Amino acid sequence: MLEEPKKHHADTSEKDLREIFDLMYKYSDKDAALITKAYKFAEKAHENYDRLSGEPYLVHLVGTAKNLAEIRADAETVAAGLLHDVLEDTPTKKEDVIREFGEDIAFMIDGVTKLGKIKYHGLERHAESLRKLFVATAKDIRVLLIKLADRLNNAATLESLYKIRPEKARRIALETIEIYAPLANRLGMGHIKGELEDLAFPYILPAEYKETVRLRQKKSKEFMQRLEKINRLLCKRLAKAGITKFKTDFRVKHIYSLFKKLQKNNMDIEKIYDLSALRIIVPTTEDCYRVLGIIHNTWRPLPERLKDYIAVPKPNGYQSIHTVIFTGDGGIVEIQIRNDQMHDEAEYGIASHLAYDESGKRKDKGAVLSKKLKWIGELIEWQKSVHESENFLDNLKTDFFNNQIFVFTPKGDVVELPEGAGPLDFAYQIHTDIGNHAFGAKVNGKMASFDTALKNSDIVEIITRDSSTPSPKWLEYAKTSEAIKRIRICLTNKKKKNERMEKK
Ligand code: MN
Repeated sequence: MLEEPKKHHADTSEKDLREIFDLMYKYSDKDAALITKAYKFAEKAHENYDRLSGEPYLVHLVGTAKNLAEIRADAETVAAGLLHDVLEDTPTKKEDVIREFGEDIAFMIDGVTKLGKIKYHGLERHAESLRKLFVATAKDIRVLLIKLADRLNNAATLESLYKIRPEKARRIALETIEIYAPLANRLGMGHIKGELEDLAFPYILPAEYKETVRLRQKKSKEFMQRLEKINRLLCKRLAKAGITKFKTDFRVKHIYSLFKKLQKNNMDIEKIYDLSALRIIVPTTEDCYRVLGIIHNTWRPLPERLKDYIAVPKPNGYQSIHTVIFTGDGGIVEIQIRNDQMHDEAEYGIASHLAYDESGKRKDKGAVLSKKLKWIGELIEWQKSVHESENFLDNLKTDFFNNQIFVFTPKGDVVELPEGAGPLDFAYQIHTDIGNHAFGAKVNGKMASFDTALKNSDIVEIITRDSSTPSPKWLEYAKTSEAIKRIRICLTNKKKKNERMEKK
């Protein structure tokens, strides 16, 4: 029998494009023309290059573009998604892309392209390519969206790569969990973060993955039945209170995040209350609090588990109210309440701010966006001070991607720190002078030593004295590279000053 030719048929391209358009939030005729042109260009450029798995390269490009369409990226970004590998994997030159698609698209593609194999190798190539990605991201956030969409498709196709090159598949999986999932989280793209982790998890910790799946299966039926019961009663109560515009759904915890929670609880599934949660989406913020009132009036809440991320959003902008209730039949369930806008942001993250309005101009939510992206600026500043590629990757993981905690100043301002950070890290985050003259610290009103590890929602106050200066011991207490850098500078200056004094 003759084998089917692998060539892409015209009806395949029509189907690919149709699927991309269907996923887009909205698009004009001009958008459709741009995306079609990008598709044809990429098809031609990659014509003679298949992926390692033997699949036509176009499959990966269409997958990336679809991921972008799904997070509501605009047409330029979707087009760039189709073109994102032309510079890295084909002889196409940047000038060619500029000529055909303009500076913006060429800039985005260049941003996600790795540095040349000749100049850099292995770890160094990886670290330096990441730096390049961050610098480009600071100029255009869409660069990072493309990188994440690309990685999501790579992670989704790990199985075929694993069969041919298991080592490479494991390396990609590890990078995905250590670097790309935290980046997605930073952008408030909780869904993408969860997907990336779940796709990579089985390749890194296969036994743990199987065990987590088994535990989840064991409990999920019981959880779902309970949630459905709660949901039925809640819908009645809401209707009675005159709240008619609402949606409810069930959110099942991602497998990797369940595993991390199990690890903290001796792998005891009975201790996990949020294996799945009931989610209620209402039109306004006011409705959220009304719903909360009705819930607490119906079931008894666990007071310490009530979290109001609407009044105090998570550092990545996430907003919702989470409450945990006793169901009355021996069970405990989590309920999440949010409004439509919060829901959009939680699902689509940063991309929901990048949507274009009717006139074709970018809908600028200025303050919101720049506040959310403040950390990218910090990342750029920070990476300038780290020279070795190896340190760069290590510090990236500790400072930027470690689980973040947020603590408060006595005035109620939120300060974001990596897990394990202490009062000195807090002090230097507020201001270099406060760090340099720190004398003592109060945590939740009580005196605390500098080696105290801060916890979420601690209220931290730094006591300063003009005469107080850093001691070498501080280097052991500080965890963030910013604090360590400042302490070092201060210690060196002090040493130089002492030497001068001695000479005199
Ligand atoms: Mn790619």
